[in-house]
Amino acid sequence: MSRKAILLFDVDGTLTAARQSITKKMREFMHETHKKVHLAVVGGSDLSKITEQLGDIKDLLVAELEKRFSDYGLKFSIGGQTSVDAFPIGWDKTYCLRYLTSEYDTIHFFGELYHIQCLITV
Ligand SMILES: [Mg+2]
Repeated sequence: MSRKAILLFDVDGTLTAARQSITKKMREFMHETHKKVHLAVVGGSDLSKITEQLGDIKDLLVAELEKRFSDYGLKFSIGGQTSVDAFPIGWDKTYCLRYLTSEYDTIHFFGELYHIQCLITV
């Protein structure tokens, strides 16, 4: 039987000081290590607190999901404060544009995530 390794990390007192944010040095260590071996975080706090402490943990999750499910025609994105959205490619929030661009020259989109806020000029 083939067996793989995974490294499980506690959060408070291990990846971070208790209830504090991860240090730059530890973040870099995690980024480099996850290229070589599977990593997971096991914490006692809810996802929003862990995300606050570890920062871009959802970015890593999205990247891993896209890598593992690249053949399924799915797109993954950060969905709000505590979730990751999965949907068929092309079915993100830009889906509505196909019904709006014939009527509007400029479309402003407002969302809570800075990287999807945009001004669309058609
Ligand atoms: Mg602990």
